[in-house]
Amino acid sequence: MTDRKILLSEKDIPKQWYNIAPDLKTPLAPPLHPATHQPLGPADLAPLFPMALIQQEMCADPWIDIPQEVLDILKLWRPTPLHRALSLEKAIKTKARIYYKNESVSPAGSHKPNTSVAQVYYNKKEGVKRIATETGAGQWGSALAFACKLFDLECQIYMVRVSFDQKPYRKLMMQTWGGIVDASPSKKTKYGQALLKENPDNPGSLGIAISEAVEDAVGREDTKYSLGSVLNHVLLHQTIIGLEAIEQLKLIGEKDPDVVIACVGGGSNFAGLAFPFLKDKLKGRTNPRVIAVEPMACPTLTKGLYEYDFGDTAGMTPLVKMYTLGHDFMPPSIHAGGLRYHGMAPLVSNLAKDKVIEARAYHQKECFASAILFAGTEGIIPAPESSHAIHCAIEEAKRAKEGEVIIFNLSGHGHFDLASYEKYLSGKMEDYEYPMELIKESLKKVPKV
Ligand SMILES: *Cc1c(COP(=O)(O)O)cnc(C)c1O
Repeated sequence: MTDRKILLSEKDIPKQWYNIAPDLKTPLAPPLHPATHQPLGPADLAPLFPMALIQQEMCADPWIDIPQEVLDILKLWRPTPLHRALSLEKAIKTKARIYYKNESVSPAGSHKPNTSVAQVYYNKKEGVKRIATETGAGQWGSALAFACKLFDLECQIYMVRVSFDQKPYRKLMMQTWGGIVDASPSKKTKYGQALLKENPDNPGSLGIAISEAVEDAVGREDTKYSLGSVLNHVLLHQTIIGLEAIEQLKLIGEKDPDVVIACVGGGSNFAGLAFPFLKDKLKGRTNPRVIAVEPMACPTLTKGLYEYDFGDTAGMTPLVKMYTLGHDFMPPSIHAGGLRYHGMAPLVSNLAKDKVIEARAYHQKECFASAILFAGTEGIIPAPESSHAIHCAIEEAKRAKEGEVIIFNLSGHGHFDLASYEKYLSGKMEDYEYPMELIKESLKKVPKV
């Protein structure tokens, strides 16, 4: 009998995070000051983040201890199960063995609490009383509201207007955990006020919401800013996913995977699963193919440029070297599948540039078709974001040779995304490929460094 679920006990939870920065082929390009274009020092970031997180952002040690208080909270849902996708394998008649790491079991329903808990812990320790953040689909906002509640901090969330209107239940989830949620652009910031004056119906974007949260945090002594993806320290906190997965495969005597897959928005769940596997690949000990999957509607790695760009729309954040579609890229509202950020984590971008990892883009309808196959075999209704990883795993499994091992990250469930499923099931969903001319137009505004 083959186990369907490979479980670690609480005492086997990893005690350290893995920092990939010192193992990269090419050293990471430093972030630059938005005005002077000089490399940033810790003091430049101090208005935004607590010092412990700034140190992690710039850290050169490969292993960083996870504080006991953080582990105690992570144990509410970790270690997460590794599943063998036996029913899916049977349905697609693959010769491969497919595994998936189930991050949907967290309180917020995704991988994001892995970092929100750690971030709020370090803020609390340094006396911060309030955290401001942005959220797109609401996953990050709910993860941060949850963590703030546990540590008794106030949580101010700028939620992209379209999601605010279309996803009332994510909003209520944040409010249940005590979060204060405003539609972005909002009247609470100068930037939001200016945008609303131009266009009262501005649908918002992640870049705009980031600008608002940064303005809020910089303007108040008691407040810091928090980001749910992209930054080095965020990716670091997610590596607990891959570290557990490696232990779980060992536990059942499985070989090293041939293919490692995750979807990418800003890159954090991908990093979480993939970086621990990349450690051996970078040392030349293994050679898995590692695939980052993105939507055709927001093709950052497959069609963007590797340049210094802003992380937000207003140009308030540091300049970071990354794959970007241009900081004023406006994701099409017909795209339901999440993953709509214009940039990509510098660490993931670095690995893509050096061809240590591959990137692939899919249309949303093929991803939803695979999501429905997954729901009908493995039982879990996946987040639209995760469906990109599922679709890639299925494609890889169909071409796989006998005995190949494929592992992917199920980054979250889709219980709050059923409106997107309705669109798909009723035949109203459309595929959209972001046109090259518009990408070129937006890329002209990438600053010259
Ligand atoms: C936020 C989110 C993503 C995309 O963000 P990454 O930082 O790229 O992981 C993917 N899946 C789910 C379920 C999410 O909530």
